[in-house]
This record gives sequence, structure tokens and C-alpha cells, in this order.
Amino acid sequence: MNAILETVKVRHDWTKQQIEQIYNMPLLELVYTAASVHRAYHPKNEVQISTLLSIKTGGCPEDCSYCGQAARYHTDIKVQRLLPTETVLAHAKKAKQAGSSRFCMAAAWREVRDNKDFDRVIDMVKGVNELGLEVCCTLGMLTESQALRLQQAGLYAYNHNLDTSEEFYDEIISTRKFDNRINTINNVRKAGITVCSGGIIGLGESTSDRVSMLLTLATMDKHPESVPINALARIKGTPLEDLPKVEVWDMVRMIATARIVLPETMVRLSAGRIEMSEVEQAWCFMAGANSIFAGENQTLLVTANPALNKDMVMLENLGLKPMIKQNQESFCQS
Ligand code: SF4
Repeated sequence: MNAILETVKVRHDWTKQQIEQIYNMPLLELVYTAASVHRAYHPKNEVQISTLLSIKTGGCPEDCSYCGQAARYHTDIKVQRLLPTETVLAHAKKAKQAGSSRFCMAAAWREVRDNKDFDRVIDMVKGVNELGLEVCCTLGMLTESQALRLQQAGLYAYNHNLDTSEEFYDEIISTRKFDNRINTINNVRKAGITVCSGGIIGLGESTSDRVSMLLTLATMDKHPESVPINALARIKGTPLEDLPKVEVWDMVRMIATARIVLPETMVRLSAGRIEMSEVEQAWCFMAGANSIFAGENQTLLVTANPALNKDMVMLENLGLKPMIKQNQESFCQS
């Protein structure tokens, strides 16, 4: 057991320097440490399979420079109004039959408004919950009372990514502030919903920004239960379309560091997976990723994602199996 692992426990007092040291460890040592933490806190051969469905696509007033759903960019994304509840529930049933334990519904909204569309989302949450799936939503900014309504409808998790570091935030988004993200995350917590929050690498940020984003997550009073690590999907028509592809070793480093500083958290290998070979994804699992998005329609919101059956073959090749519902298990040792 190496020195870092001996000191790794769930803690909330990480410093930027400590996380930077972890991020910059020799790669194999970093992966070995992260894999050891993973084995100490989670079933070693299980991967959570979540299905993500875009329930309202495009036409978003925000200006996130990586996003093809922002109305102001000229992308190929087809705008789609809020889907009917029956359509969403039919997708959820299929996802469950295909082995998903979590169903995430995403709407390209700046914020939730107290209107008929939100009432419909509440019905969707109730319906998916009744199917026995963990229900997750990502709907933009949320007030405390809206979070409470979602919780009462049976919402298990709310996704609200930090996107990037506080320092780099204004370079990527001008229509809201980093603090807005934190406020929504706090509202979700207060309502008793679990938090899913991570970010994207490859936006032109520095290593210091990556570390800073992890520092924000790792010093929260309660760590997010899920942290998605995304590689920028370079969407034609967005301001970031010409940025270079994220190197796999950067993803591995980011995932491994997240695994070490957030031992109990589900670390999700998210956007960018389509561009990775099976071998590259195996490195990410070795580095402590234990959650993926898979979907019948092969889309991760508006970017491509590997087909579910292809994923199942990959998991079998790697000796991994889909995790049973996370909230029915108690595998954390701390
Ligand atoms: S990331 Fe979300 S908030 Fe930003 S433009 Fe896209 S849909 Fe809107």
C-alpha cells in the first residue's frame, strides 16, 4: 500500500496543492492508487449504467460555449419541445429492460419555471420512480421550493455540473455565474436530493483549473454522490468546435484524481466516450470510473454515445457487470 492510500479517507479539507500533487503523480502510480481507493470503497467489478434522455432539446437561451443546444449557435441540433409523459415513460421502461438502474431526464432550460411544463416533469419523475428506477433530472437552475417538489415526486438525484473551475468560468459562459451553480447545488442538498455534479475537460482550461474544479467538489460539506467527468465533444457551430481532442491520459488523470479525493462518489465516464477505444475506456475503469451513460438511441443528449449492446459486450470483455440500484446497496466502508 503506498503512502497516499494510507492517508486517503473521506475528507473535506483538501488543499489545492495536495490535489495538484495527486494529479501530477507518475501516471501508473496514480492509476494504481486510484484503483486501490476504488476497491476499498466500491464493488470492484461493477459499473453503474445510467440512461440519459433529452426530454426537451435545443433552443436554450444560455451561451455555454461547448453546447450545441444554445439557441445562439448554428448547430445541426433539432429543437424538440418537451416530450409527452407517455413517450418518456416508454423510454424508461426500455432502459430498465436493457439493464439500466438509473434514468436521467435532461431539459435544455436555463432554469425551472413554475409552469405547466414543470408540472409535466413532476409527473415524469413520479412515473419513472414507480418503475423502480433511480430518477435523475437536469433542468437548469432550481429554487429550494422547486427542489422540494421534485424530491416529493421521488427524484433521487439532480445533475448540475460545475462545468469548469470558478477562475475559468467566465471564459466559457457569460449568461450565469459560478455562484449560481453552487446555489442550485445547495438547494438540491437542502431538499434531500443526491447531487450529481462534475465538469468538462478540454475547454482550453489549464491543469490548475482542472484541479480547482475538483477542489470545489472535494471540499463541499457533503461530496456529490456522482461526479461526471466529460471530455469536450467538439460540436460544429459552437465556439469551441476547433479545440484539439482531449488526450486519453488527461481523462485518466482526471478520473483517477477524482476517485482519490472523492472516494465514496460514483465517478462517471461521460461525454467523449464515443471517441475512446475499448482499451482507453478500460484505463478509465482502472482509474476508478464506475459509472457510464448508455442509451438505446446512442445519444448523450446531442452527442453520440456507444450503443448499449456494444457497451454490454465491452463490460463482459473486461469482466465488469452492471451495478444494481445504487441506493439499495451499502458498499461504502467509511
Ligand atoms: S449546457 Fe445547458 S444551460 Fe448551457 S446552453 Fe446547453 S442546454 Fe443551455
